[in-house]
Amino acid sequence: MTLSPDEIRRNIEILFEKIAFHAEKVGRDPKEIKLVAVTKTHPAEVIRSAYQIGLRSFGENYAQELRDKAKTLAFDAIEWHFIGRIQTNKLKYVVPVAEYIQSVYRKEEMEEIEKIAARIGKKQKVLIEVNVSGEETKGGIKTDDVQTFVEECLSYRNVEIVGLMTMAPFIEPENTRHYFKKLFALREELRRFYPNIIELSMGMTNDFTVAIEEGSTMLRIGTAIFGEREYKKD
Ligand SMILES: *Cc1c(COP(=O)(O)O)cnc(C)c1O
Repeated sequence: MTLSPDEIRRNIEILFEKIAFHAEKVGRDPKEIKLVAVTKTHPAEVIRSAYQIGLRSFGENYAQELRDKAKTLAFDAIEWHFIGRIQTNKLKYVVPVAEYIQSVYRKEEMEEIEKIAARIGKKQKVLIEVNVSGEETKGGIKTDDVQTFVEECLSYRNVEIVGLMTMAPFIEPENTRHYFKKLFALREELRRFYPNIIELSMGMTNDFTVAIEEGSTMLRIGTAIFGEREYKKD
């Protein structure tokens, strides 16, 4: 079900109040936390409602869906984030429109991003997806392998690694805390050698309050803004 613009506005207001509350609780400035509104499966009109309320960053999971929405909404100053599973052969739809690709963790993906970005004369900002929980169903690289991966990517001229991303397991929010602490610690370690690695993309509808307290700089939130998603059955 698609929520009305008024319902979306109300949800965003409540969300910003919660973000401010939890940021201030740990002495952080809420302005240093970017809200990425996750719009996968939702129609372009929903993005426009959120845009009119002032949101500018939107996250999509599917390459063609991102391409199509970016085309429909081309006249709006939107910052697109690709946050989904990467299929290397579909990166050609993603690189031309995404300001950030958040979910990179394979060498072939980096190589393909580098190739496309070079061709279109762009420097592509990426985050490395880290599987901090070790759950097998989750994407991402193991915590211990991240540094080597970063080193392997140093030669790329058209890719800039700007941070780390993770998805915590869907459990009691409080129990996600140590996963977020792990990602924070990893970022601190990497930042000593790679000062561009700054962003910590963590926190979704279920666990964003905890992620804020643990240092998140990018929240990826869908359900709390737009309601439940309906996936097409085909
Ligand atoms: C769908 C999705 C989100 C948003 O999830 P909600 O629970 O609806 O907030 C965030 N991150 C990723 C990677 C997603 O796939």
